[in-house]
Amino acid sequence: MQCVKDNEICRYCGGVIKLVPARAVYGESTKRLGMTGQHIYQCQNCNARVGCHKGTTRPLGNVANEVLRLKRMETHRVFDACWRRRHMSRTEAYRWLAQELHLPEGRAHIGGFEMDQCQKVIELCETYENEEAA
Ligand SMILES: [Zn+2]
Repeated sequence: MQCVKDNEICRYCGGVIKLVPARAVYGESTKRLGMTGQHIYQCQNCNARVGCHKGTTRPLGNVANEVLRLKRMETHRVFDACWRRRHMSRTEAYRWLAQELHLPEGRAHIGGFEMDQCQKVIELCETYENEEAA
């Protein structure tokens, strides 16, 4: 998986991507979102963006346009609900996800996933739910 860097060119519009404080993107909502002190890579032209690994300026993946950002959020919702129902810890859940997607654990971050990976996570959770119900 390739990752975005500061001053890289946006894959959507060719604009320049800058590393900015989360506050510059989320303003008053930064604290509520638990993003205080975090950084974001953001296209200065089209607003495509991606967050960083907590406490670092290492991006979680490639910048996302609005469609992909919504998909990542939906995926997060489905995945979190899934592992909570299974009474897994967060750590166990991400280990499971990494195994299922054949990714190193450090790469299993939904905030950096592409459309196809998000879809795979949703399907994994659905498959599991169906097996439980059967
Ligand atoms: Zn852009």
